[in-house]
Amino acid sequence: MSFYRIYRPQVFEELDNIRVRETLRMLLAKEKKDLPHAYLFSGPRGTGKTTAARLIAKLFQCEKPQKNGEPCGTCDQCKAIAAGRAVDVIEIDAASNTGVDNIRDLREKIILAPSVAKWKIYIIDEVHMLSTGAFNALLKTLEEPPSHAVFILATTDVQKVPITIQSRALHLAFSKPSPEEIIAALTRIVEKETIAIEKDALRLLAVASDGSFRDAVKFLEQVSFHKGNINAGVVSQLLSLSDEQVTNAFLDALAKRNAKEALDIIGKLIADGKDMKTFLVVSLSRLELLLLTSVENKPTDPWNKDSLCDAIRKLSSAYAEMRSSSIVQLPLELAVVEYCNEKDLRFKNYELGIKKEELQKIEKQKSEDDPPSMGLLTLDKLTECWKDFLEALKPYNHSVVGVLRSSRPKAVSGGIVTIEAFYTFHQEKLSEPKTKEMLANAIKKLFGEKVAVEVVLGKK
Ligand SMILES: [Zn+2]
Repeated sequence: MSFYRIYRPQVFEELDNIRVRETLRMLLAKEKKDLPHAYLFSGPRGTGKTTAARLIAKLFQCEKPQKNGEPCGTCDQCKAIAAGRAVDVIEIDAASNTGVDNIRDLREKIILAPSVAKWKIYIIDEVHMLSTGAFNALLKTLEEPPSHAVFILATTDVQKVPITIQSRALHLAFSKPSPEEIIAALTRIVEKETIAIEKDALRLLAVASDGSFRDAVKFLEQVSFHKGNINAGVVSQLLSLSDEQVTNAFLDALAKRNAKEALDIIGKLIADGKDMKTFLVVSLSRLELLLLTSVENKPTDPWNKDSLCDAIRKLSSAYAEMRSSSIVQLPLELAVVEYCNEKDLRFKNYELGIKKEELQKIEKQKSEDDPPSMGLLTLDKLTECWKDFLEALKPYNHSVVGVLRSSRPKAVSGGIVTIEAFYTFHQEKLSEPKTKEMLANAIKKLFGEKVAVEVVLGKK
């Protein structure tokens, strides 16, 4: 049996999601007849919805509840529910049984009294997958449920559950567990299985599982076969999170603010089909370790506290943006370019104690000294990256992106990017000084070059 099944929380006390645990524990003190008879658990996969559903089932069915109301875990009902073979606890996966028939079937059978236990409990997983007809049938059942029936509905997409159903159930939203909550869950297993694993390694597992208890426990099980002490290095190797050396090279390039080198590494990882989110998680947890070291005033060359904070902040927001980006690696690439473009000078000068005004003067001078263009950006490159460029602009201005979609880059020369619009009002819109400035800034961010933007009217 897998760790996940063996160590599924068997009593409410063991639920690792703190908010869920505290809410559900309030149910323990109640008389069974006073408990809600319909529950709706929503939240991302792997957050413990099914586990909580089975606990509710035990709460109703346990033959010898403990003094504090917790199910005993040892009676026939508790054991049968834990093993998923209790006859009066019916689990339906709506993702595979979407038809009205199943719910009709449910409506017919639900009238019959439970065969062994006191209650008849229906756990309907992925309830949002039910067809409209099936939802209507379910609603009718919920409106007039037989007194022995309990419904626990679980879903990863609560928006798709009709409000009429939501309002008839006790709704509990399961949020993604924090790394600390996952670490608590893993520690429980580590202690029982006596696995020799270091704290850093547990943390890496927690972070890599991206808020899924199930994935974290699976990862732990995978690395538990390792002979000897398990540290963070062993974890990233065993889970092939990404090549240790590649991560080191990437962070090294970042520390040196060498954008080209860092982008080359990203490009290679993508060509190799590596998962960029995992790569980023590993890089971030490495930076986190460095940050903790720096707080203890130990050497972290070539990083310092400020550069670490800055890099962590930029890479973390890139991670958050990856979810919604149509080009997965783009937020990471942007973060790299942004980070590398920043003048390290600023930090050094702060350390030397130069006053802020003087610093601003230096920065202003530097930006004036910036050559208008280094000639690396070409029309071909801009045309090739036009879609990425539009994507990068989206958060700033949707309507400009719309206009740009029907325009095209025409020329790149002498530090001037010429854009060709095909309607007068498009040309006017893009020629507004604010818009031109925004476009120039976006080009600088994306390609690292300072340019001026011109807009001309072309013929279709
Ligand atoms: Zn029991």
